Formats: sequence, structure tokens, C-alpha cells
Amino acid sequence: MGSSDWISEFILAYEASIRLGSFAAVFVVMLLWERVAPRRRLLLARVRRWSNNIGLLILNTLVLRLLFPAAAVGLALTASLDGYGLLNNLAWPFWLEVVVAVLLLDLAIYLQHVVMHRVPLLWRLHRVHHADLDFDLTTGTRFHTIEIVLLMLIKWVLILLLGPPVLAVMIFEVVLNGMAVFNHANVSLPPRLDRVVRRLFVTPEMHRVHHSAIPAETDSNFGFNLSLWDRLFKTYIDQPRAGHTQMQIGLKEFRRPEQVDRLPGMLALPFVGNE
Ligand SMILES: [Zn+2]
Ligand SMILES: [Zn+2]
Repeated sequence: MGSSDWISEFILAYEASIRLGSFAAVFVVMLLWERVAPRRRLLLARVRRWSNNIGLLILNTLVLRLLFPAAAVGLALTASLDGYGLLNNLAWPFWLEVVVAVLLLDLAIYLQHVVMHRVPLLWRLHRVHHADLDFDLTTGTRFHTIEIVLLMLIKWVLILLLGPPVLAVMIFEVVLNGMAVFNHANVSLPPRLDRVVRRLFVTPEMHRVHHSAIPAETDSNFGFNLSLWDRLFKTYIDQPRAGHTQMQIGLKEFRRPEQVDRLPGMLALPFVGNE
């Protein structure tokens, strides 16, 4: 049994705990950071908005577990045992396969995010994420349930085509979930540190631009993990025009808190016309 088999077995046995544990750890750290040094004053009362955003996260988690009981890592194992996918048919070193797989998965998530913005029908789903009137760590957890299911289907197809190691899928999911909380946090790194980190990774200051109500800014900074893709595909905007504390967050056409920050309104948002 090779070392990658032991790693896969360990990951499959503890998949849910690894995901929940790492998510909770990042969440608590960012929560404290937001408390100590918030970047912007929030518009809405936190408790009510949070219970709705986190309510959507819980609903999505339940739906995913119901529809996809095997989870992505389980599919990656099946693909490797049955020899599906590109990497399962190459004799590359294990570490190289992990690095290439994580990079390609991140690129795929960047591209699907661009598509969610460009295709009008998909934008209706994705605008639930953008309609939040505030921007904090719970914004990173709110996506329409149909978008989450779509994303999982895309991931399954990717895994079957790419054949990534189980470890790569686990790393990718843990990093993506952690970065979603970090990137949406109502905090900022010291400006010079932000510059350095941003050369490689997406920072909260970078992703906040993506939540601007100005359409040109909404359609920029699509990356979730690596900042490379936005630079490469020329979708990078350095700073919001109005500045981080003055910029308007959300979508210009949806400004009623009952609609955009309450669970029934969020779930209905893809199906209503512009107001
Ligand atoms: Zn977006
Ligand atoms: Zn976002």
C-alpha cells in the first residue's frame, strides 16, 4: 500500500470532521478579528442578518448531504480505483499531481464564477450572493441552494475528467471554505502586508471590490483563492472607486433588507424581476 492510499483512507474516515473543524477554526478567528478591528460600519443588525445567512448555509449543507452522500473526496477515490480521469492515467509523482490538481481546480472555480456572472439565467442564482447589503464573514457562506447543487455537479464532472488525488480534493475544499470566510471578512490586512499577500492570494480588500454595487466592479476580482487568475485574464481591479469605507455594497436594484437579507427573500430572489 503506497503512502497516498493511507492518506486517502484517513481523509475518507474523517472527511466531515476535517471540513467542519477547519471551517469552525477559521470562522472563530475571523469573528474575533472583525470584533477587534472592523473595516466598515455594518448597515443592518448583525444577529438577524447572521441567522438568515447562516440559516442558508445550514439548508445548503443538508441538501448537499442528501443529494451527494458520497462527497467529492469519495468520488475522487472511486475515480482513482476505476482509473477515470487524466491524472489517474499519468505516472506523475504524487506531490506533482496534488499541486497540479489543486491549481486546476482553482482555475475551474474562477472560470465557473465568471460564467455565473456572464450568463443571465445563472446570474439570477448568483446574485443572491451579491445582494447582501453588508459584507462580512457570513456573506461568504450565502449562496442560493440551486447554485450550490450546480457547483457540486461541476465539481463531480471535473473530478471524473481530471482524476485528482483524494488529498488534492480535500486540500482544495478545506482551503476554499476557509478562504471564503477569510475573503469576506469585514477586516483588512495592514496595507503593505495586503500588497504582499495579494501577489499570490485573494485578500478581503481584493474580494470586497467584487461586492461593490458598481457593475464594472461587481464584474471584477472573480478569484476565491489565488489572485493569479484575475491578473492573467485581465479581470483584476485594485481598489474600489469610492474607497473601502464609502463604497456601496450589494446590488443597486435590490436594496430592501426583507428581500435580500431574509431567507425566504433570498431563496425567491432568482425568480423575481428587477425592481
Ligand atoms: Zn460573484
Ligand atoms: Zn463574494
